[in-house]
Amino acid sequence: MNNTASTRRPFIIPIFLPHAGCPHQCVFCNQTSITGVGRDTVSPEKVEQQIHEFLKYKGNDRRPVQVAFYGGNFLGLEKEYIERLLDISTKFVNNKEIDAIRFSTRPDTIDHDRIEIIKTYAVTTVEIGVQSMDDRVLATVKRGHSASDTQRAVALLKDRHYQIGLQMMVGLPEEDEASSLFTADRIGELEPDFVRIYPTIVLKNSLLARWHENGMYRPWSLERSVAHVKTLYLFFKKKNVPVIRMGLQASEDLDSGAAVLAGPYHPAFGHMVHSEIFLDIATKIMAHKSVSHDTVTIKVHPKSISKMRGMKNSNVETLKRRFRLQTLKILPDATLAEDQLTVLEPISKTI
Ligand code: SF4
Repeated sequence: MNNTASTRRPFIIPIFLPHAGCPHQCVFCNQTSITGVGRDTVSPEKVEQQIHEFLKYKGNDRRPVQVAFYGGNFLGLEKEYIERLLDISTKFVNNKEIDAIRFSTRPDTIDHDRIEIIKTYAVTTVEIGVQSMDDRVLATVKRGHSASDTQRAVALLKDRHYQIGLQMMVGLPEEDEASSLFTADRIGELEPDFVRIYPTIVLKNSLLARWHENGMYRPWSLERSVAHVKTLYLFFKKKNVPVIRMGLQASEDLDSGAAVLAGPYHPAFGHMVHSEIFLDIATKIMAHKSVSHDTVTIKVHPKSISKMRGMKNSNVETLKRRFRLQTLKILPDATLAEDQLTVLEPISKTI
C-alpha cells in the first residue's frame, strides 16, 4: 500500500515564488495564503540566501538535494529571470551542494522555446499543475488551458527524459467523483513519475471564497474528500504511479484558520487517507477470519502504527465495535512491509 516515489526521497529546498509567472489568478488559488510568502519578496539574491539557510539545516542528511521553485508558474517567468534563478542554483550544483533543480509550472507554458531555456541546466523534474482533465471543470475554474495542453506538455517533457510529476485537485467546482476519476484515468495514461493530490480548499481572498459566500460553490466535506482520495490513491497504486502527497502541506496560516474560509483542510490529510486504507484492510481480513474473540492482535510495520491506530485511536475503536472485541492490540513488526498488516490468532478467549 505504501507508494513512495523512491526509497531515497530528495532533501528539498523549497523556494516559493507566489503567483510569479501566472497569467491570472485561478479561482481556487491564493499562493500567498498557502505559502505564507508575500508576492513581491523573492529576488534572486534572496533565493541565494534561502538556499544557504536550508543547506545549514541539512546537517548530515545524505539524501540527494534538490532546489524546488514552487508556488507559481516557473516557465511563465521572464526568460532573464528564469536564467538568473537557474544560474544561482547552478552555482550550488557546481559546488556539489545541490544535485538537481525542479519546479512547478502550468501545462500551457511548456513549449519548445521554454524547454530550450532550461535544457543546459541541472533541471531533472518538472511538476505540472494539471488540476483536472475534464475541460468543463477547467473552464469553470478559469484555468485558461485544456486537458490537451497537459497531454502535449507531458509528451514534450517525456521526449527530453524529464521526471514528471502531475498535480491534480479534488472537489473543484462542477467536479464530482466521476469527473475526478476521469482525470485520474487520463493522468494514469500519461504515466507520470509521481502525482500529488490536493483537495479543494476555499482560501481567503480567492475568487472561490466569493463563490462560496454567495452560494455558488459548496466545498466537499472532509469525510467525502478522504474517501475519494483513498479511491484515487488505490487507483494510482494499481498503476504503479507513486502518490507523493495528499493534502496541502501544513502551515501556520492554514492551521490557525487565518487562510482558510471553508473546505476539507486537515494538517494530517494524507495520514487520514492511509488510516482509512488500513481500517479497510483490517476489516476485510477480520471479517474473512470470522474473528469473534475477546482479544485480537494486529501487527504492522513500526512506521505504520499510527496509521493503523487511526486519528485519536479511531480505527481501534471502530474495529473493537465492529467485531465486539474487548481488546485490540497493535504491535510493531519490522519484518512486514509498510503497507502490510497481519491479524494474529486470539491471545485469549472468554468461555
Ligand atoms: S493555480 Fe498555479 S497558475 Fe493558477 S494562480 Fe495558482 S500558481 Fe498561478
